[in-house]
Amino acid sequence: MSVADTALIAYTNPQSESARTHQRAVRVMPGGNTRTTVYRHPWPPYAARGQGAVIVDVEGQERIDFLNNYTSLIHGHADPDVVAAVIAQMALGSSFGMPTEHEVDLAALLVESVPAVEQVRFTNSGTEAVMVAIQAARAFTGRPLIAKFEGAYHGFYDFAAVGTGIGKNGSPDGRPTPMVHSHGTPHGVTENVVILRYNDLIGLEQEIAEHKDDLAAVLIDLMPWRMGLIAAEAPFVRALRELTTTHGILLIADEIITLRVAPGGMQGRHGVRPDLTTMGKVIGGGFPVGAVGGRAEVMAVFDPSDGSPKVPHGGTFNANPITMVAGLATMRKLTPEAYGRLDTLGDALRRGLTEAMAKAGFPGHVTGAGSLFGIGFGEAPPRDFRAWLGTDRVRTMRAQIYEVLLARGVVVAPHLVGCLSTAMTRADVNALVEDVGAVLTSIASERSADSVAS
Ligand code: PMP
Repeated sequence: MSVADTALIAYTNPQSESARTHQRAVRVMPGGNTRTTVYRHPWPPYAARGQGAVIVDVEGQERIDFLNNYTSLIHGHADPDVVAAVIAQMALGSSFGMPTEHEVDLAALLVESVPAVEQVRFTNSGTEAVMVAIQAARAFTGRPLIAKFEGAYHGFYDFAAVGTGIGKNGSPDGRPTPMVHSHGTPHGVTENVVILRYNDLIGLEQEIAEHKDDLAAVLIDLMPWRMGLIAAEAPFVRALRELTTTHGILLIADEIITLRVAPGGMQGRHGVRPDLTTMGKVIGGGFPVGAVGGRAEVMAVFDPSDGSPKVPHGGTFNANPITMVAGLATMRKLTPEAYGRLDTLGDALRRGLTEAMAKAGFPGHVTGAGSLFGIGFGEAPPRDFRAWLGTDRVRTMRAQIYEVLLARGVVVAPHLVGCLSTAMTRADVNALVEDVGAVLTSIASERSADSVAS
């Protein structure tokens, strides 16, 4: 199937079930949408169901799901153990105005898995986890500023969302600008966020020297999904930990996605010990979740036992038992063997994709680790967001590739990153490699036809 043939997929037909649902949706939701991430022009395929590695849309088209609800399902859809745990809990009640033992079990599991996590608080989303981590860092240090990296997405809490995009021209001295995520964000927010460039050691040293007395925390994702899963370089991470420790600045590692790479997350792979860690996605087994954990001394800001915690943290559905039992069922199956199998499949996929790119004659590189993978274009491996974004031509090509993959029956994220689940087999991985190879070859031949014609 070529780029031009994508119009043939069922959901794009104006008479399709998806089109009809979208027409109803636009009347009652802005743009027919309630989650910007899943908006697609002119409308998205609506999901009907999922089973294991497969997602089925309302037209009945089956696709291999390398998105897994943006990495949250590590055992694929409707995993039987998760389903059984949730059904059993549903019959006992879905949420209470009392804690349950399940939250203690899941907190204990996380404390055991991530050495830097000594204590845990649960939230209902990753956004909230990052929000309370920032609040905790400010309360602990008594300082107002946070620093984060240009292009990295940490949810949509105002402070964490600054700098997710790129300011038009950057500041006159070439530093990244604190561009806001939503219109109307007050200056008070941008004034309290320092934007750093990923893997830029000199920039990091300069900014920390300038703001060291006011910085509460540096927030980093060690392999940011939205930046194509480019890797934080080991010397950079080491320097970041040293500088933050020297100046009493907390280091917050956002492992909301990367906890699926290894039991101890990317921090384990780097051998770095952050003060706070945010977690989410897989730990909720497919249900809404987030968590912040870290050094007991810092986590004490949440402790209500003396009657006045520094950070009072409520939430009607925090640690609700449905999420907790689903998370426990998921995480208990995520044994070292399961991680090992995902690593092996991931390595095969990354190798296959690299070969497919070379065969089609595309300069590029495959990013990711463990169950995460990304496809990037360009001669040199990108080290920061601007480099990863690439030219307009690269961005257009990514969008085309995504469309054709969707048509051929595989789902990845629109910026060509994705993840594996334990429900996948070597055949699923081979299918993705074959599809990417076919799409790249067809783009290459369309291009050479264009250049012959012009
Ligand atoms: N941090 C990271 C690294 C994320 O990828 C995301 C979501 N994709 C979030 C935070 C926010 O999580 P949520 O969507 O659960 O609010």
